[in-house]
Amino acid sequence: MVQAPVCPFGAKPRFRTRLVRIGRVAVGADAPVVVQSMTNTDTADVLGTAMQVAELARAGSEIVRITVNNEDAAKAVPHIRDRLLALNVDVPLVGDFHYNGHKLLTDFPACAEALAKFRINPGNVGAGARRDPQFAAIVELACRHDKPVRIGVNWGSLDQSVLARIMDANARLAEPRDAGAVMREALVVSALESAAKAEEYGLPGDRIILSAKVSSVQDLIAVYRELAARSDYPLHLGLTEAGMGSKGIVASTAALAVLLQEGIGDTIRISLTPEPNGNRAQEVIVAQEILQTMGLRAFTPMVIACPGCGRTTSTFFQELAAGIQTYVREQMPVWRTQYDGVENMTVAVMGCVVNGPGESKHANIGISLPGTGESPAAPVFVDGEKTVTLRGANIAAEFKAIVDDYVATRYTRKAG
Ligand code: SF4
Repeated sequence: MVQAPVCPFGAKPRFRTRLVRIGRVAVGADAPVVVQSMTNTDTADVLGTAMQVAELARAGSEIVRITVNNEDAAKAVPHIRDRLLALNVDVPLVGDFHYNGHKLLTDFPACAEALAKFRINPGNVGAGARRDPQFAAIVELACRHDKPVRIGVNWGSLDQSVLARIMDANARLAEPRDAGAVMREALVVSALESAAKAEEYGLPGDRIILSAKVSSVQDLIAVYRELAARSDYPLHLGLTEAGMGSKGIVASTAALAVLLQEGIGDTIRISLTPEPNGNRAQEVIVAQEILQTMGLRAFTPMVIACPGCGRTTSTFFQELAAGIQTYVREQMPVWRTQYDGVENMTVAVMGCVVNGPGESKHANIGISLPGTGESPAAPVFVDGEKTVTLRGANIAAEFKAIVDDYVATRYTRKAG
């Protein structure tokens, strides 16, 4: 396997994969690792789905997947696309098909046309004798509409015929492998054989992306190492059913960080279960933060804050760190259109003199707040130099003004 020297940050070079275009977004080869997300609305609800897609796209999702599970959903897809275009959101939409994709894509060509990619699961395209013709029908529709396909295997819906075949072969080995290894091999084989079959049916190899999702971190790492070693299709990474809150974030980060560090993965999705009434866009922010904290991409200025300890005198330090983090994220949609490179900015908010000045000097802008017993003054550092000391009740507002001024003066204004 040839590897491409594309990462300047210390991670291993990305595995060389083919370049696949999903609408205007490039995935694979030397393209940056792409952030994806998925809606949880009823796709037949055109307005609700369009609004959530727009929210995900504005948060930074570069591709958004929607389920297309029945006729009403298939009918809605072109209208969702139109509404998004009216909102000036041209994020590529991916249709997620299970069981009836061949029929929906045949009966609703406007749906097929409005989508930028079809996602199919080889374990769910049809059972028994219907499997191959239905798989072939979807591939033929992808060819006809000029769309790429993600062949997305999932261990919860693994093709049972492949699993049975791998189990039989394993049973004949002198030293059979354990059940976990057999399952992992079946996932890999299902993805690779389905991709080979899609190419046989006429889909060009540069229109295929693979994924093989499981919910265990170690299984995910093992499966994707195999996929990367045994093919050059771009790989979509994601820990399926990652869970809620910190558990979902930690599990996804643990799995994806190992793979990304090894140069594996061309696109990622974080499958977080939202809290009731929670923000769906959190999965986008987590995906971006994984890539940015690993030094693989930059999306929004990073706020570095110490954890605080017995030396911090009040919650003011936490409030300032949270306030600055929210502020830079809120400003980014505008800053991104006005200033080149602003996403690389770092801002430090530190709680006392122990590490405050040192960490602040390493950031583009840093503030070292007074800890217990220190004089009530907060020195501010800009590009490593102390420029001003803030005091009194307006520190937060004055510090934001310094950040604004830094952005306006240090980053090149975009033309137009
Ligand atoms: S910088 Fe100061 S307040 Fe922050 S964790 Fe270190 S010692 Fe504690």
